Amino acid sequence: MRGTVVQSTGNFYDVMLSDERIIICRLKGKFRLDNKKQTNPIAVGDFVMVEADEQNNYSIYEILPRNNYIVRSDIHKKEYKHVIAANIDQTVVIASLRQPRTAHGFIDRVLLTSEVYGIPAKVIFNKHDLYIEKDNNLLQELMYGYNEAGYESFSTSVMANENLEKLHAIFENKCTLITGLSGVGKSSLVNSIFPNLNLRVGEISKYSEKGLHTTTFAHMYRLNKNSFIIDTPGIKEFGLVDIDAYEVGHYFPEIRKEMHNCKFNDCMHINEDGCAIKKLLEEGKFSPTRYISYVTFHEEIKAAKKW
Ligand code: GDP
Ligand code: ZN
Repeated sequence: MRGTVVQSTGNFYDVMLSDERIIICRLKGKFRLDNKKQTNPIAVGDFVMVEADEQNNYSIYEILPRNNYIVRSDIHKKEYKHVIAANIDQTVVIASLRQPRTAHGFIDRVLLTSEVYGIPAKVIFNKHDLYIEKDNNLLQELMYGYNEAGYESFSTSVMANENLEKLHAIFENKCTLITGLSGVGKSSLVNSIFPNLNLRVGEISKYSEKGLHTTTFAHMYRLNKNSFIIDTPGIKEFGLVDIDAYEVGHYFPEIRKEMHNCKFNDCMHINEDGCAIKKLLEEGKFSPTRYISYVTFHEEIKAAKKW
């Protein structure tokens, strides 16, 4: 039987079968030995093959090829990689400019990580009903920058019922990795567009907070027949992308698109002569916050040699 891993606790795996039944499985022994540098051979989102023994105990005997997966270094053993989730169709960052305010650096870090793993991403600004004029000015600026870079971005409000249908549509028939600071309204949004799920307010974040202190695992929720969300345990996984400083520009689509116009092939877009990116920035054609994030990530990776 074929199924999808929806939850993992390290020893046991909840696997959803095609008839939507969820069964608890163990792993066949051989998986444990395979990849010594990975703390978990199977992650949420993995497509697996399952069999039952005479006592009706289920076990996973095969993992099917992954379309993609995201990893982070193990909290305790840096050389070990922890697979957070697999087979992700898109990342949706839920941000807010009020209660709590999401720093643009947080959003851009998630976008960088998604880009490195080849996962499309979208940026949603929730709690729009709470924004005052200056927030709205910033909102326009940020959304413009993201849309220009190719990341669909719009505002929502659970309170004012703003753009909830539009948000619903982007979750349809996809497996979405959802992330955002605690309290931005992830559970409320998901509840309002998928009432059957009936998440407690704060449920997604509570789960995430736990993840900051312990090695917990992502959890997958089924929204409807072909739509799933995966919420990730905390934000740590978005701090450790395994790339070199000179590569950062390749993972900013709006830089990637223009970098061939820079005078030097190896331009880092920081203080080189004839830099096309700096020129766009001066002309007001490049998002200043995106540029700040670019420089920050570039410096950070350079300082650490590697994250
Ligand atoms: P999560 O931690 O990201 O899952 O956030 P929750 O869904 O638990 O929401 C945190 C708080 O924000 C709750 O009190 C919600 O009622 C409130 N909230 C969620 N969305 C909105 C919104 O669009 N506008 C306002 N004003 N409050 C919201
Ligand atoms: Zn340049």
